[in-house]
Amino acid sequence: MAATADTVIIGGGVMGCGIQFNLAKRGMTSTLLLERDVLASGSTSRSQAILRMHYSNEVTATMALKSLDVFRNFEDVVGGPSGYVQTGYLLIVGPDDQKAMADNVAMQKRLGIDTDEVSASDVSEIAPMVATSEGEAFAYEPQSGYADAYSVTTGYAAAARRLGATIRAGSPVTSIEITGNRVTAVLTADTRVETPIAVVAAGPWSESLLATVGVDVPLHPLRQQVIMLHRSGDSISNHPIIGDVVQDLSARPDVGNLTLADGAGDGSKEDPDTYNQSVDMPVVEKTFTKLVARVPAMEDAVFQGGWSGLFTTTPDWHPILDRVEGIDGLYCAIGFSGHGFKLSPMIALAMSELITEGKGVTIDISMLTLKRFAEGKQMRSRYAMQVLA
Ligand SMILES: Cc1cc2nc3c(=O)[nH]c(=O)nc-3n(C[C@H](O)[C@H](O)[C@H](O)COP(=O)(O)OP(=O)(O)OC[C@H]3O[C@@H](n4cnc5c(N)ncnc54)[C@H](O)[C@@H]3O)c2cc1C
Repeated sequence: MAATADTVIIGGGVMGCGIQFNLAKRGMTSTLLLERDVLASGSTSRSQAILRMHYSNEVTATMALKSLDVFRNFEDVVGGPSGYVQTGYLLIVGPDDQKAMADNVAMQKRLGIDTDEVSASDVSEIAPMVATSEGEAFAYEPQSGYADAYSVTTGYAAAARRLGATIRAGSPVTSIEITGNRVTAVLTADTRVETPIAVVAAGPWSESLLATVGVDVPLHPLRQQVIMLHRSGDSISNHPIIGDVVQDLSARPDVGNLTLADGAGDGSKEDPDTYNQSVDMPVVEKTFTKLVARVPAMEDAVFQGGWSGLFTTTPDWHPILDRVEGIDGLYCAIGFSGHGFKLSPMIALAMSELITEGKGVTIDISMLTLKRFAEGKQMRSRYAMQVLA
């Protein structure tokens, strides 16, 4: 294992691997990624991996748009499959959110996103299995879909390796060495790797890791459950991704006549080492009831199990993409708040630009600093369903 590296990346989820690939593309190939477990073993492998572009802010909508292009052309841009499947994304809101939705759709169209407000009768053509009610409003994105988070992460890792980067799994970082006011090394139990740059991309473990160097970040890992339902042959063969703000539900199809629907936990702050990784039957029942209300033909669907993962939320449900003030060479890409996968190609690119050029060039990320929370410059979502940040 190299004892020196130009940059050490801590965490082998989609963000860490994507950042390492983008650094290598920019010519920084002497990098080392340290992963405590195996690649994609954190939030990434638990993701529903939905790719939609409906957001409340230009920065996230732009990232989602440009990232979708990477997912669609992953073979050429990175190498290997992304598993992108185009399903369309149908957003459903109630009367209180109609203006928010219309404003978001107008903003998204200005950015070049293929989206439109649609009527209930349009919905009955686009997605005849979806039940609608008086007072609801709808937006549809035909290009949206889902991808395979494991393939994307390992695709980035393989491409980074081909460009000369090094990855070591099974290597938990124990601390970051700071001398004076700058990063000098990253330490594991058995190795000291000299480096001037450390990038923390450790998902829900980031708060405790950064605390070891006195950096306090406002992260609140929340448990989120993914419930698998098998649609029987007599019910529907497919459906678009449904973002149901009225019921606080999202559901996406998967191969083998499966639907993956989500359900929240109890909102407690979770420990990534000890949280309950299975699903709760009361949440399964509640989610199933909501889904059947929206897609009545799902009533004969069969529960096939599920899993839980962690949304690493920040107070405004936007990530922190920053260099840490007061410690030269320390960067963080954290707090993806349950919607980072769809943004990951642009986040990884922007982080590589921040590290090599001092700022996000392709996309301005200057509003996503850590200090925004202390300065009262938090981002705002137009919806109560904050994951639509
Ligand atoms: C249930 C669920 C559903 C989701 N659905 C969607 C969705 O539909 N669409 C979407 O866009 N996003 C979704 N997300 C969010 C998305 O998956 C995450 O934002 C994204 O995967 C975060 O990636 P990451 O690399 O930052 O974190 P992680 O994947 O958690 O990676 C962090 C890595 O760091 C490693 N690590 C931690 N500490 C150390 C250490 N000390 N030393 C070395 N390595 C360390 C961990 O083992 C882990 O592999 C969902 C998330 C969950 C949990």
